[in-house]
Amino acid sequence: MNTATEERKVIDFDLPKFGKISTAHAWASVPNEPSQAERAELKAAIAAELKARDAALVAHYYVHPDLQDLAEETGGIVSDSLEMARFGRDHPAKTLVVAGVRFMGETAKILSPDKRVLVPEMEANCSLDLGCPIEDFATFCDQHPDRTVVVYANTSAAVKARADWMVTSSIALPIVRHLKEQGKKILWAPDRHLGGYIAEQTGADMLMWQGSCIVHDEFKGFELAELKKQHPRAKVLVHPESPREVVAMADVVGSTSQILKGARELDATEFIVATDNGMMHKLRAQNPGKVFIEAPTSGKSATCKSCAHCPWMAMNGLRNTLAVLKSGTNEIHIDPAIATRAKLPIDRMLDFAVKAGITASRGAAAVSSAQTGGIGPA
Ligand code: SF4
Repeated sequence: MNTATEERKVIDFDLPKFGKISTAHAWASVPNEPSQAERAELKAAIAAELKARDAALVAHYYVHPDLQDLAEETGGIVSDSLEMARFGRDHPAKTLVVAGVRFMGETAKILSPDKRVLVPEMEANCSLDLGCPIEDFATFCDQHPDRTVVVYANTSAAVKARADWMVTSSIALPIVRHLKEQGKKILWAPDRHLGGYIAEQTGADMLMWQGSCIVHDEFKGFELAELKKQHPRAKVLVHPESPREVVAMADVVGSTSQILKGARELDATEFIVATDNGMMHKLRAQNPGKVFIEAPTSGKSATCKSCAHCPWMAMNGLRNTLAVLKSGTNEIHIDPAIATRAKLPIDRMLDFAVKAGITASRGAAAVSSAQTGGIGPA
């Protein structure tokens, strides 16, 4: 839902096609900040609409702090993608407003088919999702029928419907280990960095789709090493969608939830953080007195990819959240046949998590070195 107060950005992303990666283009329009007075009015109006319409606000850690705060203040949740979907499924509200990116709205709808799922901005996408179109991905799978298809949560419903398993990063390691023990060879999509990390940790035979996250792909190893020299006591918290050389310097390799856990539990007062800087809001709120430093990217003067903030997550704002609540537009609809098929790999993962005693916030293993770290949902 575009308004006159938005700034439109063009974003380049990797579009893999059978081993070759070309550059494709997408766009995001980021709303301008409301004034303090408008912000207070909008927050009050959204809270009232949520109540009146029996709706819950489900927000990701990467969206604007106003939406994160509002979600918690109104009985919704701010969390990682897996917990967003679980919370939405288990919440009694008739309507879910999912402040994140499109695949999160789709996953919520797949798990809660009887609920109305609204998103503030239909065009809020993800380079991993965009870089894995179903037509090409289906051909790739058809070329490797001997492989078990494992896809990351950051994919379309149609891609999930082509998969045997869906994983979030919390559970990718044990699931891939489990599949390896069964002698399975894996076809992995779409994030090459996360896939590479999992393959390195498990030794599994994994054929990779070559997608990447435009935000995490920008973190730089050399510059991080220099920053570490300036802050020798700082612990390094890294999301595994980051490049290998960045992951190799991590004290914690983890999801958003496990980065939060690492910051709470590690014996340090200074942290360098390699993930979307939307995380800083929660990190600072939960850890007063600790210092959080953004890991280096190509620099703010380079491209909108290198500002360590997802331009699609930034499309979510107070104005468009209120607008969809009032109008009921931007509802997520999924072809029922695709939704039913896409639910299978998600349910398989959730059942595995229950049997293995893995929850979204599991993180003891993550508070360790990059070599042994458990990782969590994106
Ligand atoms: S931060 Fe990266 S993985 Fe997350 S939604 Fe944005 S592009 Fe996708």
